[in-house]
Amino acid sequence: MACLFCKIVNGEIPSQMVYEDDLVYAFKDIEPKAPVHILLVPKQHFDGLSAMTESEQALLGHMQLVLSKLAQSHKIDQSGYRVVTNNGQDGGQSVGHLHYHLLGGRSLAWPPG
Ligand code: AMP
Ligand code: ZN
Repeated sequence: MACLFCKIVNGEIPSQMVYEDDLVYAFKDIEPKAPVHILLVPKQHFDGLSAMTESEQALLGHMQLVLSKLAQSHKIDQSGYRVVTNNGQDGGQSVGHLHYHLLGGRSLAWPPG
């Protein structure tokens, strides 16, 4: 399996885990763009949001709620935060395994670059 995030999920590549359950794995981004920068991935490989179907509706809903709980546990739920998934070339996706960025701990500019 050549996928970087699959290797992180199965422990082949080390990471700073912040949360895991049967379905998802969350870890600190190696190049944080904000004081809190967490990546949340499904343990199963999907190429990105465009690869998701109705079959994954429950998984996608679960991921949203995990992100909200991670924001609470990292104490950015009151100050605010951003959830981002980059999809495909124009989206700036650099790792082809679905992942959500959770960013917070500072004021984030809008629109993004
Ligand atoms: P994206 O550009 O949206 O595909 O996001 C990929 C993210 O993965 C970037 O923010 C990278 O900094 C992060 N990243 C790449 N390699 C690692 C790694 N080994 N551990 C943690 N985060 C990583
Ligand atoms: Zn993968």
